[in-house]
Amino acid sequence: MSHVFHRHTKASYPVAVRGEGLYLFDADGRRYLDASGGAAVSCLGHGHPRIIEAIKRQADQLAYAHTSFFTSQPAEELADTLAAAAPEGLDRVYFVSGGSEAVEAALKMARQYHIEAGQPQRRHIIARWQSYHGNTLGALSAGGNLWRRKQFEPLLVDMPHVSACYAYRGRRDDESEEAYGRRVADELEAEILRLGPDTVAAFIAETVVGATLGAVTAAPGYFARIREICDRYGVLLILDEVMCGMGRTGTLYACEQEGITPDLVTIAKGLGGGYQPIGALMVHRRIFEAIRDGSGFFQHGHTYLGHPIACAAALEVQKVIAEDDLLANVRRQGEALTAALTARFGNHRHVGDIRGRGLFQAIELVADRTTKDPFDPAQAVNTRIKAEAMKRGLLCYPMGGTVDGRMGDHVLLAPPFTITSGDVDTIVGLLGEAVDAVLA
Ligand code: PLP
Repeated sequence: MSHVFHRHTKASYPVAVRGEGLYLFDADGRRYLDASGGAAVSCLGHGHPRIIEAIKRQADQLAYAHTSFFTSQPAEELADTLAAAAPEGLDRVYFVSGGSEAVEAALKMARQYHIEAGQPQRRHIIARWQSYHGNTLGALSAGGNLWRRKQFEPLLVDMPHVSACYAYRGRRDDESEEAYGRRVADELEAEILRLGPDTVAAFIAETVVGATLGAVTAAPGYFARIREICDRYGVLLILDEVMCGMGRTGTLYACEQEGITPDLVTIAKGLGGGYQPIGALMVHRRIFEAIRDGSGFFQHGHTYLGHPIACAAALEVQKVIAEDDLLANVRRQGEALTAALTARFGNHRHVGDIRGRGLFQAIELVADRTTKDPFDPAQAVNTRIKAEAMKRGLLCYPMGGTVDGRMGDHVLLAPPFTITSGDVDTIVGLLGEAVDAVLA
């Protein structure tokens, strides 16, 4: 009997014992091609010798020093590295240990910024439906996924939600992508006006929606319009790039491809590539300066923030990405992945949409391609695809609730940045077998 309180109490999990490159191995010697990096985490695959060496070096030197007493060399160097590559102005880094913590820090920092700037009445955070921002109560309050929120609703903070930008289901037939993007972006303005423009602190959105919608990019012009609206009403723009950031979509920050600079950006997953638990909040200098020139400190903090070993690992991950020019491979293999998914599923009667950017792509499964009707959730399509894929030695990231938090299924792929086109073909081939085993 296991004493671990596993995610699912009735499931029995294989024991992962080793990782090497694209593959994880279990205690029975089975090999799994990790095509989703768990949940879009393992951007360098497993067992990368440079990262392991960096962790060992740092552990020999210094494991821990509390950040109320000390800073550390790896934290300083990692912050320099992240700031140097960030969109102009995002030059302060607040370290945490994961994505939910990064979101919590962003929500609180947005609130504190307005207090320091002499606008304490700004208290509302607006978020979007069908988003995922983490499982802590603040992050869950911002999240817009019904089944994750439902039983905790009485504990959640009230945060108004506007529509996601999800053209496959939201765009009307008589509307261009741009017109659709503008229509849903304008929902933010309407909500700001409804709440009272001087009471809104921030708007939070995933630049590319990950777990809950499956690699959904915004319509062209959507984020430019969002930036414009936020600026008009003095509302901070928080972009959650915990999943889509750190190179996953082909640029280090996903928002670079939207041509906008947010005020706060959350990052995690690919930051440390799974070698250490680490996240961060990228902060615009305007916000830093308001706090520096005001109370002088951000009223927040966790025991493990800026952990030296975590920072050393993340620093080495980021060095490898830059030195091996891996973002070029993300873009190149991203195109190969789109082509392979289109060839395999473009005419599949149960694949309604193939989407994403870089090595962050998904297929949405439908009962009927013409009507876009989803499967009955009782069929547990996404769970069964995950199991069939695993049987075939493939790890992918299927999820349900795509349409409205209850109905709908998609499968997300987020392979390591190091994959080859041969790997792409293997992944898509195995995924095709798994999908057909469930739906053919
Ligand atoms: N934000 C986004 C966009 C995510 O995808 C996730 C996790 O999947 C989180 C936040 C929460 O991150 P964590 O699980 O590290 O707390």
